Amino acid sequence: MIIFKEVPKKIVLSLFLLSISLILILYFDTKTYQKLPEIEILESGVFEIKDLDVSHSILHSVKDGENISVIFENYKIPLNTAYKIFRADEKNLLSKIRPRDMITFDFDNKELNSISIARNNMNLLNIILDEKVNITKLEEKIDLITSYRSGVINSSFYEDAKNSGIPDSVIMDFAFIFGWDIDFVFDVRPGDSFSLIYEHKYIKGQEIDNGDIIFAEFVNNGKKYYALRFYNHHDKKEYFDENGNNMQKAFLRTPLEFAYISSHFNPNRMHPVLHKIKAHNGVDYAAKRGTPVRSTGEGQILFMGRKNGCGNEIVIKHTLDYSTRYCHLDRFANYMRKGKKIEQGQIIGYVGSTGLATGPHLHYEFKVGNKNIDPVKMKLPSAEGVFEDNKAKFNTMMIVNKDKLNELNKKFIN
Ligand SMILES: [Zn+2]
Repeated sequence: MIIFKEVPKKIVLSLFLLSISLILILYFDTKTYQKLPEIEILESGVFEIKDLDVSHSILHSVKDGENISVIFENYKIPLNTAYKIFRADEKNLLSKIRPRDMITFDFDNKELNSISIARNNMNLLNIILDEKVNITKLEEKIDLITSYRSGVINSSFYEDAKNSGIPDSVIMDFAFIFGWDIDFVFDVRPGDSFSLIYEHKYIKGQEIDNGDIIFAEFVNNGKKYYALRFYNHHDKKEYFDENGNNMQKAFLRTPLEFAYISSHFNPNRMHPVLHKIKAHNGVDYAAKRGTPVRSTGEGQILFMGRKNGCGNEIVIKHTLDYSTRYCHLDRFANYMRKGKKIEQGQIIGYVGSTGLATGPHLHYEFKVGNKNIDPVKMKLPSAEGVFEDNKAKFNTMMIVNKDKLNELNKKFIN
């Protein structure tokens, strides 16, 4: 039995979130048709304040356990007004209020004409009650401020990174970025060192969140690894090593998040069902029925269906001449179809025992051209590197960041 190194969970998580948002988009699409024409939601970075006649205002600080319906009730907001607001708030922004948020109700004589919600003295949401209900989500300008942190490993990467003051989310990002090459549980040893420059997000001088890692170095057993954030595609954040190679591999090592191999790639295997010598052109992973199966790489569905002992199968065509095949699936994931573009780590189906299988497992094949190769032993190719057109810019940024980090390291490490 071989236990696999855990593949970065972040991909799975982000794909999960992506699918959730897709579902939400579909949901909201259908809702748009049911929407009454007099209600409109505005959501933009530009916020215009209408000249409102305000005779008096009521301020309310949200208490623990309070939700917006309770607050409306307490302030005797007419049911029909509350209903109009909830109808307009399709994105459920009002459900996101938190204790200590400040709600202002503005009245003109006895008529409620606007509600605004603020957090940490910053406006979040503005609701204007006119013949239409306008809900505006306010987006503040975010300032990015950078920080430097470094440390030497004494116990574990996590402990030492924590001790040097790196926030958890940044530690996770660091481990994810370098995690394709370095196993932070098994490869890291005392004396290894790490250093990084990362962002903090501020709104009006107040820190709201940690931002991205801009540049990072990990020295493992004397070998230096660098990672630079770079927008190779203008809208996609990626990390690259010193030579412009993508830190990420083009393929995940395994199509299941936690998996052990029940049968290896073997050209001369006795088939367990057919009981004759038949090449085992892939790897079998034992897993419970229903375990999600991920595409190991980005690509397009070439075949989806059932044609032989493989049962329910999906074949994905990747760039160059690579393709991967997933057999015995219990069922396919929703919205899968031939020709569909698939992301790395996207869930395409669920483990089952369809076709010739003694029990639930995933049979996974990796092909280069027409040749089956052992996906466990192959050296995984890197994802797309820095484009030729971007090289000059990338190299400059790499040099600048490296100099800056080296200088800081000289001061703070040793
Ligand atoms: Zn198999």
